[in-house]
Amino acid sequence: MSIEIRNIEKRFGNFTALDKVSLTVESGELLALLGPSGCGKTTLLRIIAGLEQPDAGQVLFEGRDATHQHVAERQVGFVFQHYALFRHMTVFDNVAFGLTVRPRKVRPEAAEIRERVMQLLKMVQLDWLADAYPAQLSGGQRQRIALARSLAVEPRVLLLDEPFGALDAKVRKDLRRWLRKLHDDMHITSVFVTHDQEEALEVSDRVVVMDHGHIEQVGRPDDIYEQPATPFVTRFLGDVNLFHGRVEDGRFTHGDFAHALDDRAGAGTDTAVAYVRPHDLDLARARDGALACGTVEHIHAVGPLVRVEVVPAGGDAIEVVLGKERFRELALVPGEQVYVTARKLAVFSGDYAI
Ligand code: ATP
Repeated sequence: MSIEIRNIEKRFGNFTALDKVSLTVESGELLALLGPSGCGKTTLLRIIAGLEQPDAGQVLFEGRDATHQHVAERQVGFVFQHYALFRHMTVFDNVAFGLTVRPRKVRPEAAEIRERVMQLLKMVQLDWLADAYPAQLSGGQRQRIALARSLAVEPRVLLLDEPFGALDAKVRKDLRRWLRKLHDDMHITSVFVTHDQEEALEVSDRVVVMDHGHIEQVGRPDDIYEQPATPFVTRFLGDVNLFHGRVEDGRFTHGDFAHALDDRAGAGTDTAVAYVRPHDLDLARARDGALACGTVEHIHAVGPLVRVEVVPAGGDAIEVVLGKERFRELALVPGEQVYVTARKLAVFSGDYAI
């Protein structure tokens, strides 16, 4: 089922939590809402669910206006960060709950409920825990049960709000791969809220990057990462070094240095900023094509990578990440002067990509 969000506005008192947000979630898609704390992700999810009413705008399910439809009519399933399972019920009864509380007329037969619940428990690979109680489960297992419970009523849309937020890093990683696989099997339209860039990029078909109640960029994970549309998206998706300069004659100039831009490079600007990720930088002993030069201050090995801090005279430190082999090849010594070159940079003038 597709979801269309049209010009949604939501205010809390004088505070604008969502400012004319428009977005389409395709049928069967897994979409991530990504952004810093307070940017409006949860509010948007709650409006899709019908738990919150917008001040203006519309929500359409499969082309039909659902803006004022009651939450129970929308057939949405939820998984929250702290979705407390019923402590006094077994795993089986927790998953069966949504079906057993249905009015008699629409309630499936006990045997059918049993079959459906066991099928779901197999799907989340926890059928062997059917008789356990929530207190006997790990955090990751509880979230998988919460997911099975939300799927039991066959929702048309699945909404997940930081479902793995409370778990440790290793479990989170396993669970997000597992969620991706589950989604590939089920193809249920899903919206997933996270503030974790890696999680959004790894799990989803498309990512919506939000900031201060508006959408900064929507795109496939690769495109968002490789071609961030705004300085905010560039910074939010990972570490960057900033180089201040100008664009002229198809080049980005930074002090005495110049870097040739590709064909898309627009007209000259008074000021521009180049954003470069540490692993898109390299070091050299020759000045050719360099973006800056400075002194090697710190060298720090992290697993297969080496982080090198280069400090230009009177400038901010530049962080360069090299592979171990490249680092050995360069044979850098702390205190020596090196040139910094960029393989790839994103240049912005104000908020606009150049
Ligand atoms: P987080 O990742 O921290 O959950 P978020 O991006 O999900 O953040 P929201 O929960 O949507 O953000 O909140 C957006 C803004 O709206 C926040 O500044 C929040 O304080 C405010 N807000 C949300 N709900 C209410 C409410 N019921 N009353 C007043 N302000 C609210």
